[in-house]
Amino acid sequence: SFRLQATHKIAVLPGDGIGPEITKVALQVLEAAGKSHGEQFEVKESLVGGAAIDATGQPLPEETLAACRASDAVLLAAIGGYKWDSLPSASRPEGGLLALRTGLNAFANLRPAVVLPQLADGSSLKREIVEGVDIMIVRELVGGIYFGQPRGFSTNDKGHKTGYNTMVYSEPEVERIAHVAFDAARKRRKRLCSVDKSNVLEVSQLWRQTVTRIGKEYPDIELTHMYVDNAAMQLLRNPKEFDTVVTGNLFGDILSDEASMLTGSLGMLPSASIPSEGPGIFEPVHGSAPDIAGQDLANPMAMVLSAAMMCRYGLSLPQVADDMEAAVTSALDQGFRTGDLMSDGMKQLSCSDMGQVLLKAEQTSG
Ligand code: ATP
Ligand code: MG
Repeated sequence: SFRLQATHKIAVLPGDGIGPEITKVALQVLEAAGKSHGEQFEVKESLVGGAAIDATGQPLPEETLAACRASDAVLLAAIGGYKWDSLPSASRPEGGLLALRTGLNAFANLRPAVVLPQLADGSSLKREIVEGVDIMIVRELVGGIYFGQPRGFSTNDKGHKTGYNTMVYSEPEVERIAHVAFDAARKRRKRLCSVDKSNVLEVSQLWRQTVTRIGKEYPDIELTHMYVDNAAMQLLRNPKEFDTVVTGNLFGDILSDEASMLTGSLGMLPSASIPSEGPGIFEPVHGSAPDIAGQDLANPMAMVLSAAMMCRYGLSLPQVADDMEAAVTSALDQGFRTGDLMSDGMKQLSCSDMGQVLLKAEQTSG
């Protein structure tokens, strides 16, 4: 068939630690998967985190933010390391990530927790419970109790010191996260569970009413509601009942870490932080793994899956995403593992050799 080739502008931020190693692999697999669908990527690498502090004194230089704003999507690897651990918290490498999220207004955090059958034994729960789990948690990232005013310390009338924070959500804040969640559910199994604490909290009552109202615009999506304490329990008791989950900042922080433990492998988990308009940020859940950096030992799969999420949720290239995910599955099916996933009978590979296996899997399927 004959069609025009599209070029997608990707801002790539390899960052620190294992970042550059896993970025190299992800870009190779992305390019190969794109090629088989006539899609091209224009890649511009920029500095962020400790690498940027060393070069410019800033964890997020102006130039980097400008390159991200001018892109269609941002692919970020990892930030931080021992070298910068003694810096005061205001000038740490991690500040670069917060500044980037704020700078792009990336208010929605998407974290999938998928248990691949090849890795189900790595979970902290029994195989029967986790095999087949495929959850997407959509967490509001820039509001709620982490940002609400008033906050602080005071002394009460009994002379006791008190600390306080405020959980607050406005209708527009809930509306926009609800839209992201319903859209995500539409790309999945069309079921959305909204998690709140509306039996106790007014802010949750507004959350529930608003999500329900937005849901009328998505008649094809089945919407349910659950209290957060019950959701925490059901995630361990029957995680397969969940498809897409939407929740606020605090509940989402806790539930997404809980859900990631169902999978049992930090090296396999991607994430996305996306705005209403403009480029989203796609990155692995794991950090810069300074203990294994520069040794070609890292598992590049979370980074490859982050690039796949970028294709699915940031660039609307679901077929490219499918191919990249299939390459990961194929490598696991063939028994290839990096050190973090090793078990008896498997073949241990370096990061770069895993890259070659993924590339080959991509080329034979695509
Ligand atoms: P953060 O930077 O988010 O604070 P962290 O300090 O909690 O992260 P990581 O940097 O993710 O933790 O590392 C935790 C452990 O997991 C380390 O022992 C690290 O080597 C290992 N690890 C993390 N990511 C990978 C990966 N992609 N491949 C192999 N091992 C990994
Ligand atoms: Mg760390």
